[in-house]
Amino acid sequence: MPSLQSDAPRPPLVARTAQGDVVAISLAGSRIVRVEPARSAPSSVVVPGLTDAHGHVVGLGLSLVKVDLRGCRSPADCAARVQAALPKLAPGAWLQGRGWDQNLYPDQQFPTRAALDAVAPDTPVFVRRVDGHAGWANSEALRRARVTRETPDPPGGRILRDASGEPTGVLVDRAEDLMEKAIPPPSEVEIEQAILRAQDLLVSQGLTSVHEMGISPLVADIYLRLARSGRLKIRVYAHWTSDPATLEEAFRRGPLRAGADELFTLRSIKVYADGALGSRGAHLKAPYSDDPHNTGIVVTPMQEVEAISRRALAAGFQVSTHAIGDAANHDVLEAYARAGVTPAARFRIEHAQIVDVADIPRFAQLGVIASMQPTHATSDMPWAEKRLGRQRLAGAYAWHRFLDAHVHLAFGSDFPVELSDPRLGLFAAVTRTDLDGRPPGGWLPDQRLTVEEALHAFTVGATYAAFEEEWRGELRPGQTADFTVFDGPLDTPEHIVQRKILMTVVAGRVVYDASTAEQAR
Ligand SMILES: [Zn+2]
Repeated sequence: MPSLQSDAPRPPLVARTAQGDVVAISLAGSRIVRVEPARSAPSSVVVPGLTDAHGHVVGLGLSLVKVDLRGCRSPADCAARVQAALPKLAPGAWLQGRGWDQNLYPDQQFPTRAALDAVAPDTPVFVRRVDGHAGWANSEALRRARVTRETPDPPGGRILRDASGEPTGVLVDRAEDLMEKAIPPPSEVEIEQAILRAQDLLVSQGLTSVHEMGISPLVADIYLRLARSGRLKIRVYAHWTSDPATLEEAFRRGPLRAGADELFTLRSIKVYADGALGSRGAHLKAPYSDDPHNTGIVVTPMQEVEAISRRALAAGFQVSTHAIGDAANHDVLEAYARAGVTPAARFRIEHAQIVDVADIPRFAQLGVIASMQPTHATSDMPWAEKRLGRQRLAGAYAWHRFLDAHVHLAFGSDFPVELSDPRLGLFAAVTRTDLDGRPPGGWLPDQRLTVEEALHAFTVGATYAAFEEEWRGELRPGQTADFTVFDGPLDTPEHIVQRKILMTVVAGRVVYDASTAEQAR
């Protein structure tokens, strides 16, 4: 790997800042030692290292080996994609995928296992339909899941069968569970490979750091190994999951940092207060506008959020609680307050998606960070009003209101739920439109941010959410050399999405270089 991090003197990096100043940045080891005005006017633009404050690295890496079957035009076409993916598969693993749609086939009939058997006679294959409501298995997968002509259709599901009664390979709705139960959880080797694969993608998108939202002790040990052996390239600020066994382990071990440049940190706990808006699981103060008897789901009782918070405060852990609905946000703030949370503890609410505007000042009082994902707003905008009605939209994805109330704002993407590319998040934050500019002027346009405000939330805001702002997140002497270089100015949202990442530097190490990545291709 090319490295700027050596003792030999080397030329400073000359680039424009996002504000337009031409600067020469000199490094020594992993640190920035000088930032001076420079004369020449390069087209490249350097920003402090971008951080995604909410992602799932292992989940992203695992999803990358799933075959993408969107747009394939026949069962044979889908099978060819499956065949192409087989060599990348870990020995013994199942090949999984998603995205097929029989409506695109010439006969519009459901596919059968025969097409998959032709390319994968020995490897179990299970690929989901584009909507997730049906799955297509090959014979080996059916064999391992013990789905035979004798297997009855489960309640809420259907096993499609041919004229002789043999399963065809397609399982509808709850019948997919038969397969889910048979697919083994990823092995340690698969998890390690998933992390390495995900980090390659993330650094190529200009990210220098990610907040990993919820890991088990097994995954923590894999990260510690990668960090200590120098194989971790991107900074990972990780959260423990909050199941009882993991919590005991977390409190037993205490907050951790590892790796030569402390690339891996584990000092937070992820808690779930409610579900999601799309499936009407977000916990609302008043019923859903399109489901008048439903106020959503409480995933973790508030006494438990309070108890975890107390223990976390005593043990030096931060707590980050997923809260989407306005009731969940309100209740979590109250639980934090009862536990004695102060601004110094920097507790967080993840998503803070639908918030009663009256509760926003409470975030500032308690110093609770709003960790939000701009692309969730643009993904949800087509149907959010149906769920919430007009009035509740005042506090929906309301990142400008948080800034106005002096709440710390950290931005991320929630990859792989959304795409991990931070350019998309910056675009969504600034425009509140989809990439085609719809709706014109933006959805709830008073909540749009300036490019500078959006960049702040993806840099300084995200580092504050990880207690890192004193040593990274800005381009100034003394800070760790974490930065991202674009091929031109970030002056308009349209430009932001068109820009290429030229270089990503973490702790003085070039972890992504477009010129060598081009050659390697
Ligand atoms: Zn998430």
